[in-house]
Amino acid sequence: MIEVKHITKSYNGKKALDNVSFCLGKNETMCIIGSMGSGKSTLLRCIAGLEHPEEGSICIDGCPLTQKNAGGYNYIGMVFQDFNLFPHFNVLHNLTLAPIKVLGVSEKEAEEQAYQQLQKVGLGEKAFLFPNELSAGQKQRVAIARCLMMKPRLMLFDEPTSALDPIATAEVMDVMRKLKKEITQVIITHKISLVNEIADSIIFMQNGKVCEKGSPADLLYAPKQAATRSFLSYQKNMIYRIENAQFDRPELNARIECYCNRFGLGSQAFHFVQLVVEEILNLLPLDNGLDLVLSKSDTEVRMSLNITLSFEEKMYLDPLQAKDDLSLSLIEGLCDVIQETTNEDGRKLIHLELNKERLL
Ligand code: ADP
Ligand code: MG
Repeated sequence: MIEVKHITKSYNGKKALDNVSFCLGKNETMCIIGSMGSGKSTLLRCIAGLEHPEEGSICIDGCPLTQKNAGGYNYIGMVFQDFNLFPHFNVLHNLTLAPIKVLGVSEKEAEEQAYQQLQKVGLGEKAFLFPNELSAGQKQRVAIARCLMMKPRLMLFDEPTSALDPIATAEVMDVMRKLKKEITQVIITHKISLVNEIADSIIFMQNGKVCEKGSPADLLYAPKQAATRSFLSYQKNMIYRIENAQFDRPELNARIECYCNRFGLGSQAFHFVQLVVEEILNLLPLDNGLDLVLSKSDTEVRMSLNITLSFEEKMYLDPLQAKDDLSLSLIEGLCDVIQETTNEDGRKLIHLELNKERLL
Protein backbone atom coordinates (compact mmCIF):
# COMPACT_ATOMS: atom_id res chain seq x y z
CA MET A 1 0.00 0.00 0.00
CA ILE A 2 2.74 2.40 1.02
CA GLU A 3 6.35 1.92 0.08
CA VAL A 4 9.07 4.18 1.45
CA LYS A 5 12.46 3.64 -0.16
CA HIS A 6 15.79 5.04 1.00
CA ILE A 7 14.58 8.48 1.99
CA THR A 8 16.98 11.04 3.36
CA LYS A 9 16.19 14.49 4.72
CA SER A 10 18.63 16.98 6.20
CA TYR A 11 18.26 20.22 8.11
CA ASN A 12 21.26 22.54 8.06
CA GLY A 13 23.53 19.77 6.82
CA LYS A 14 22.46 17.36 9.58
CA LYS A 15 20.54 14.24 8.56
CA ALA A 16 17.18 14.03 10.32
CA LEU A 17 16.37 10.97 8.17
CA ASP A 18 19.10 8.74 6.87
CA ASN A 19 18.21 6.09 4.29
CA VAL A 20 14.84 5.11 5.77
CA SER A 21 12.81 2.35 4.08
CA PHE A 22 9.71 0.37 4.96
CA CYS A 23 6.59 -1.14 3.37
CA LEU A 24 3.12 -1.39 4.76
CA GLY A 25 0.18 -3.39 3.38
CA LYS A 26 -3.44 -2.28 3.06
CA ASN A 27 -5.28 -1.91 6.38
CA GLU A 28 -2.15 -2.67 8.36
CA THR A 29 -1.09 -0.56 11.32
CA MET A 30 2.52 0.33 11.89
CA CYS A 31 3.84 2.07 15.00
CA ILE A 32 7.01 4.14 15.13
CA ILE A 33 8.86 4.34 18.42
CA GLY A 34 12.11 6.06 19.33
CA SER A 35 13.46 8.76 21.58
CA MET A 36 13.09 12.51 21.01
CA GLY A 37 14.88 13.81 17.95
CA SER A 38 15.22 10.38 16.30
CA GLY A 39 13.39 11.58 13.17
CA LYS A 40 9.91 10.13 13.74
CA SER A 41 7.98 13.34 13.03
CA THR A 42 10.18 14.20 10.05
CA LEU A 43 9.37 10.79 8.55
CA LEU A 44 5.61 11.35 8.90
CA ARG A 45 5.90 14.90 7.58
CA CYS A 46 7.72 13.62 4.50
CA ILE A 47 4.99 11.03 3.88
CA ALA A 48 2.28 13.70 4.34
CA GLY A 49 4.04 16.05 1.90
CA LEU A 50 4.75 18.71 4.54
CA GLU A 51 8.46 18.14 3.89
CA HIS A 52 10.21 16.77 0.84
CA PRO A 53 13.06 14.27 1.14
CA GLU A 54 16.25 15.00 -0.80
CA GLU A 55 16.67 11.39 -1.79
CA GLY A 56 14.51 8.29 -2.07
CA SER A 57 10.91 7.75 -3.00
CA ILE A 58 7.51 7.30 -1.40
CA CYS A 59 4.77 5.44 -3.30
CA ILE A 60 1.13 4.89 -2.43
CA ASP A 61 -0.54 2.02 -4.29
CA GLY A 62 2.31 2.15 -6.79
CA CYS A 63 2.00 5.91 -7.50
CA PRO A 64 4.96 8.04 -6.48
CA LEU A 65 4.21 11.01 -4.22
CA THR A 66 6.12 14.04 -5.39
CA GLN A 67 5.69 17.80 -5.38
CA LYS A 68 4.62 17.54 -9.04
CA ASN A 69 2.13 14.80 -8.33
CA ALA A 70 0.74 16.57 -5.25
CA GLY A 71 -2.78 15.17 -5.76
CA GLY A 72 -1.57 11.92 -4.20
CA TYR A 73 -1.25 13.68 -0.83
CA ASN A 74 -5.05 13.99 -0.72
CA TYR A 75 -5.14 10.28 0.09
CA ILE A 76 -3.26 10.92 3.31
CA GLY A 77 -4.68 12.30 6.56
CA MET A 78 -2.53 13.49 9.41
CA VAL A 79 -3.44 13.95 13.08
CA PHE A 80 -1.17 15.99 15.33
CA GLN A 81 -0.53 16.06 19.06
CA ASP A 82 -2.16 19.49 19.42
CA PHE A 83 -5.29 18.91 17.28
CA ASN A 84 -4.81 21.92 14.90
CA LEU A 85 -8.56 22.67 14.70
CA PHE A 86 -9.73 26.06 13.40
CA PRO A 87 -10.78 27.78 16.65
CA HIS A 88 -13.17 30.24 14.99
CA PHE A 89 -15.19 27.53 13.18
CA ASN A 90 -17.65 25.17 14.80
CA VAL A 91 -17.10 21.40 14.64
CA LEU A 92 -19.28 20.95 11.55
CA HIS A 93 -17.49 23.74 9.69
CA ASN A 94 -14.09 22.33 10.69
CA LEU A 95 -15.13 19.08 9.02
CA THR A 96 -16.77 20.42 5.85
CA LEU A 97 -14.23 23.08 4.92
CA ALA A 98 -11.66 20.93 3.12
CA PRO A 99 -14.08 18.62 1.26
CA ILE A 100 -15.94 21.67 -0.09
CA LYS A 101 -12.84 23.69 -0.98
CA VAL A 102 -10.46 20.91 -2.07
CA LEU A 103 -12.67 18.11 -3.36
CA GLY A 104 -15.51 20.35 -4.63
CA VAL A 105 -18.16 18.44 -2.66
CA SER A 106 -21.51 20.30 -2.28
CA GLU A 107 -22.25 21.84 1.10
CA LYS A 108 -25.23 19.56 1.68
CA GLU A 109 -23.28 16.44 0.86
CA ALA A 110 -20.31 17.55 2.98
CA GLU A 111 -22.62 18.11 5.95
CA GLU A 112 -24.21 14.68 5.58
CA GLN A 113 -20.76 13.10 5.52
CA ALA A 114 -19.69 15.18 8.49
CA TYR A 115 -22.58 13.86 10.59
CA GLN A 116 -21.62 10.31 9.65
CA GLN A 117 -18.00 10.85 10.62
CA LEU A 118 -18.94 12.55 13.88
CA GLN A 119 -21.20 9.63 14.70
CA LYS A 120 -18.29 7.31 14.09
CA VAL A 121 -16.06 9.08 16.62
CA GLY A 122 -18.92 9.36 19.12
CA LEU A 123 -19.55 13.10 18.68
CA GLY A 124 -22.85 13.16 16.77
CA GLU A 125 -24.25 15.71 19.22
CA LYS A 126 -21.39 18.17 19.09
CA ALA A 127 -21.62 19.52 15.52
CA PHE A 128 -22.45 23.10 16.54
CA LEU A 129 -19.96 23.49 19.37
CA PHE A 130 -16.71 25.39 18.95
CA PRO A 131 -13.33 23.79 19.68
CA ASN A 132 -12.95 25.66 22.99
CA GLU A 133 -16.21 24.07 24.20
CA LEU A 134 -14.79 20.56 23.81
CA SER A 135 -12.59 18.44 26.08
CA ALA A 136 -9.12 17.54 24.80
CA GLY A 137 -10.24 14.00 23.94
CA GLN A 138 -13.22 15.36 22.01
CA LYS A 139 -10.99 17.81 20.12
CA GLN A 140 -8.69 15.02 19.07
CA ARG A 141 -11.66 12.93 17.93
CA VAL A 142 -12.91 15.89 15.86
CA ALA A 143 -9.42 16.15 14.32
CA ILE A 144 -9.62 12.46 13.37
CA ALA A 145 -13.15 12.86 11.93
CA ARG A 146 -11.93 15.87 9.95
CA CYS A 147 -9.19 13.74 8.37
CA LEU A 148 -11.67 10.98 7.55
CA MET A 149 -13.79 13.50 5.59
CA MET A 150 -11.10 13.48 2.88
CA LYS A 151 -11.55 9.71 2.47
CA PRO A 152 -7.88 9.00 3.11
CA ARG A 153 -6.29 5.67 2.30
CA LEU A 154 -3.61 6.26 4.88
CA MET A 155 -3.83 7.92 8.30
CA LEU A 156 -0.74 9.30 10.02
CA PHE A 157 -0.78 10.04 13.75
CA ASP A 158 2.01 12.03 15.40
CA GLU A 159 1.79 11.35 19.15
CA PRO A 160 -2.02 11.66 19.12
CA THR A 161 -2.43 11.00 22.84
CA SER A 162 0.61 12.61 24.38
CA ALA A 163 -1.22 15.86 25.24
CA LEU A 164 -4.13 13.94 26.78
CA ASP A 165 -5.09 12.70 30.24
CA PRO A 166 -5.88 8.98 30.75
CA ILE A 167 -9.62 9.31 30.03
CA ALA A 168 -9.08 11.32 26.82
CA THR A 169 -6.32 8.91 25.81
CA ALA A 170 -8.72 6.00 26.20
CA GLU A 171 -11.34 7.79 24.04
CA VAL A 172 -8.85 8.40 21.23
CA MET A 173 -7.43 4.88 21.46
CA ASP A 174 -10.95 3.52 21.13
CA VAL A 175 -11.36 5.40 17.83
CA MET A 176 -7.97 4.24 16.53
CA ARG A 177 -8.84 0.66 17.41
CA LYS A 178 -12.03 0.90 15.31
CA LEU A 179 -10.15 2.48 12.41
CA LYS A 180 -7.62 -0.33 12.40
CA LYS A 181 -10.02 -2.58 10.51
CA GLU A 182 -10.79 0.01 7.84
CA ILE A 183 -7.67 1.95 7.03
CA THR A 184 -3.89 1.83 6.86
CA GLN A 185 -2.36 3.66 9.84
CA VAL A 186 1.09 4.84 10.85
CA ILE A 187 1.24 5.92 14.49
CA ILE A 188 4.05 7.60 16.40
CA THR A 189 3.52 6.95 20.08
CA HIS A 190 5.35 6.50 23.36
CA LYS A 191 2.55 4.35 24.72
CA ILE A 192 4.03 0.88 24.59
CA SER A 193 0.69 -0.59 25.70
CA LEU A 194 -0.96 0.95 22.60
CA VAL A 195 1.85 -0.31 20.36
CA ASN A 196 1.51 -3.79 21.79
CA GLU A 197 -2.21 -3.84 21.21
CA ILE A 198 -2.62 -2.15 17.85
CA ALA A 199 0.55 -2.61 15.79
CA ASP A 200 0.98 -5.21 13.07
CA SER A 201 4.55 -4.01 12.72
CA ILE A 202 6.84 -1.64 14.57
CA ILE A 203 9.91 0.34 13.65
CA PHE A 204 12.31 1.64 16.25
CA MET A 205 14.17 4.74 15.06
CA GLN A 206 17.43 6.13 16.31
CA ASN A 207 19.47 9.04 14.88
CA GLY A 208 17.35 9.24 11.74
CA LYS A 209 17.76 5.56 10.91
CA VAL A 210 15.52 2.53 11.28
CA CYS A 211 17.42 0.68 13.97
CA GLU A 212 15.07 -2.32 14.15
CA LYS A 213 11.83 -3.50 12.52
CA GLY A 214 9.55 -6.31 13.63
CA SER A 215 6.22 -7.56 14.91
CA PRO A 216 5.23 -6.61 18.47
CA ALA A 217 6.14 -10.15 19.59
CA ASP A 218 9.67 -9.74 18.21
CA LEU A 219 10.46 -6.12 18.77
CA LEU A 220 8.83 -5.61 22.17
CA TYR A 221 9.51 -8.99 23.74
CA ALA A 222 12.69 -10.14 22.00
CA PRO A 223 14.47 -7.06 20.65
CA LYS A 224 17.68 -7.89 18.79
CA GLN A 225 19.45 -4.57 19.06
CA ALA A 226 20.94 -3.31 22.32
CA ALA A 227 19.61 0.20 21.51
CA THR A 228 16.06 -1.14 21.24
CA ARG A 229 16.39 -2.98 24.53
CA SER A 230 17.68 0.05 26.33
CA PHE A 231 14.94 2.28 24.86
CA LEU A 232 12.22 -0.16 25.89
CA SER A 233 13.53 -0.60 29.39
CA TYR A 234 13.58 3.17 29.75
CA GLN A 235 9.96 3.31 28.52
CA LYS A 236 8.83 0.60 30.91
CA ASN A 237 10.66 1.95 33.90
CA MET A 238 11.06 5.36 35.36
CA ILE A 239 14.67 5.72 36.42
CA TYR A 240 15.56 8.69 38.57
CA ARG A 241 18.96 9.48 40.03
CA ILE A 242 19.01 11.39 43.29
CA GLU A 243 22.42 12.97 43.85
CA ASN A 244 21.88 14.39 47.34
CA ALA A 245 19.26 15.78 49.73
CA GLN A 246 18.92 18.98 47.64
CA PHE A 247 17.54 17.11 44.61
CA ASP A 248 14.74 18.64 42.54
CA ARG A 249 11.56 17.33 44.21
CA PRO A 250 9.05 18.98 41.84
CA GLU A 251 10.88 17.40 38.91
CA LEU A 252 10.72 13.96 40.51
CA ASN A 253 6.99 14.41 41.16
CA ALA A 254 6.43 15.52 37.57
CA ARG A 255 8.28 12.44 36.33
CA ILE A 256 6.15 10.19 38.53
CA GLU A 257 3.00 11.86 37.23
CA CYS A 258 4.07 11.40 33.59
CA TYR A 259 4.90 7.79 34.29
CA CYS A 260 1.51 7.11 35.90
CA ASN A 261 -0.22 8.87 32.99
CA ARG A 262 1.60 6.76 30.47
CA PHE A 263 0.08 3.65 31.99
CA GLY A 264 -3.37 5.14 32.25
CA LEU A 265 -3.27 5.40 36.05
CA GLY A 266 -5.37 8.27 37.38
CA SER A 267 -4.49 11.10 39.74
CA GLN A 268 -5.36 9.02 42.81
CA ALA A 269 -2.75 6.45 41.87
CA PHE A 270 -0.25 9.21 41.17
CA HIS A 271 -0.72 10.72 44.65
CA PHE A 272 -0.36 7.28 46.19
CA VAL A 273 2.90 6.51 44.35
CA GLN A 274 4.20 9.98 45.18
CA LEU A 275 3.41 9.42 48.87
CA VAL A 276 5.26 6.10 48.97
CA VAL A 277 8.30 7.69 47.31
CA GLU A 278 8.22 10.61 49.73
CA GLU A 279 8.03 8.36 52.79
CA ILE A 280 10.75 5.98 51.67
CA LEU A 281 13.09 8.86 50.82
CA ASN A 282 12.44 10.22 54.29
CA LEU A 283 13.90 7.01 55.75
CA LEU A 284 17.01 6.81 53.58
CA PRO A 285 20.28 8.73 53.58
CA LEU A 286 20.28 10.82 50.40
CA ASP A 287 23.69 12.39 50.54
CA ASN A 288 25.60 9.51 48.98
CA GLY A 289 23.16 9.39 46.08
CA LEU A 290 20.67 6.70 45.14
CA ASP A 291 18.82 5.37 42.11
CA LEU A 292 15.09 5.10 42.19
CA VAL A 293 13.35 2.85 39.65
CA LEU A 294 9.61 2.66 39.30
CA SER A 295 8.31 -0.23 37.21
CA LYS A 296 4.88 -1.31 36.21
CA SER A 297 3.92 -4.90 35.48
CA ASP A 298 2.88 -5.51 31.85
CA THR A 299 -0.04 -7.70 32.72
CA GLU A 300 -1.61 -6.26 35.85
CA VAL A 301 -1.99 -3.13 37.92
CA ARG A 302 1.12 -3.66 39.95
CA MET A 303 3.97 -1.28 40.52
CA SER A 304 7.22 -1.76 42.26
CA LEU A 305 9.82 0.63 43.48
CA ASN A 306 13.45 -0.40 43.56
CA ILE A 307 16.08 1.71 45.21
CA THR A 308 19.81 1.11 45.04
CA LEU A 309 22.15 2.83 47.41
CA SER A 310 25.70 2.29 48.52
CA PHE A 311 25.88 -0.33 51.21
CA GLU A 312 25.67 0.52 54.85
CA GLU A 313 25.30 -1.84 57.79
CA LYS A 314 22.18 -0.13 58.99
CA MET A 315 18.75 -1.54 58.11
CA TYR A 316 16.68 1.46 57.20
CA LEU A 317 13.36 -0.37 57.21
CA ASP A 318 13.89 -2.21 60.48
CA PRO A 319 11.47 -0.92 63.17
CA LEU A 320 14.31 -0.82 65.71
CA GLN A 321 16.64 1.20 63.50
CA ALA A 322 14.36 3.31 61.32
CA LYS A 323 14.75 7.01 61.85
CA ASP A 324 11.03 7.80 61.60
CA ASP A 325 8.35 5.48 62.98
CA LEU A 326 5.52 7.27 61.24
CA SER A 327 7.10 7.01 57.78
CA LEU A 328 7.82 3.35 58.34
CA SER A 329 4.31 2.49 59.45
CA LEU A 330 2.90 4.42 56.46
CA ILE A 331 5.08 2.40 54.10
CA GLU A 332 4.00 -0.82 55.79
CA GLY A 333 0.41 0.19 55.21
CA LEU A 334 0.93 1.23 51.57
CA CYS A 335 3.04 -1.66 50.31
CA ASP A 336 2.36 -5.39 50.00
CA VAL A 337 6.01 -6.39 49.79
CA ILE A 338 8.91 -4.69 51.54
CA GLN A 339 12.41 -6.11 51.12
CA GLU A 340 15.76 -4.74 52.13
CA THR A 341 18.75 -6.73 50.93
CA THR A 342 22.44 -6.31 50.33
CA ASN A 343 23.98 -7.26 47.02
CA GLU A 344 27.26 -9.09 46.55
CA ASP A 345 28.75 -5.98 45.00
CA GLY A 346 28.18 -4.10 48.24
CA ARG A 347 25.04 -2.22 47.26
CA LYS A 348 21.86 -2.15 49.23
CA LEU A 349 18.61 -2.83 47.40
CA ILE A 350 15.18 -1.89 48.61
CA HIS A 351 12.22 -3.45 46.85
CA LEU A 352 8.68 -2.30 47.50
CA GLU A 353 5.53 -3.56 45.82
CA LEU A 354 2.82 -0.99 46.02
CA ASN A 355 -0.61 -2.01 47.26
CA LYS A 356 -2.62 -2.95 44.19
CA GLU A 357 -6.03 -1.72 45.34
CA ARG A 358 -4.74 1.79 45.84
CA LEU A 359 -3.53 1.96 42.23
CA LEU A 360 -6.97 1.31 40.77
P1 ADP B 1 11.20 13.18 16.71
O1 ADP B 1 9.83 13.41 16.14
O2 ADP B 1 11.63 11.75 16.66
O3 ADP B 1 11.33 13.73 18.10
P2 ADP B 1 12.06 15.04 14.66
O4 ADP B 1 11.72 14.36 13.39
O5 ADP B 1 11.14 16.12 15.12
O6 ADP B 1 12.27 13.96 15.81
O7 ADP B 1 13.50 15.68 14.55
C1 ADP B 1 14.64 14.97 14.05
C2 ADP B 1 15.82 15.90 13.99
O8 ADP B 1 15.60 16.91 13.00
C3 ADP B 1 16.07 16.66 15.27
O9 ADP B 1 17.45 16.76 15.46
C4 ADP B 1 15.45 18.00 15.03
O10 ADP B 1 16.13 19.00 15.76
C5 ADP B 1 15.67 18.21 13.53
N1 ADP B 1 14.59 19.00 12.92
C6 ADP B 1 13.29 18.63 12.80
N2 ADP B 1 12.56 19.58 12.17
C7 ADP B 1 13.44 20.59 11.90
C8 ADP B 1 13.31 21.87 11.26
N3 ADP B 1 12.13 22.28 10.76
N4 ADP B 1 14.43 22.64 11.16
C9 ADP B 1 15.61 22.21 11.65
N5 ADP B 1 15.79 21.02 12.25
C10 ADP B 1 14.74 20.22 12.39
MG1 MG C 1 8.14 14.29 17.04
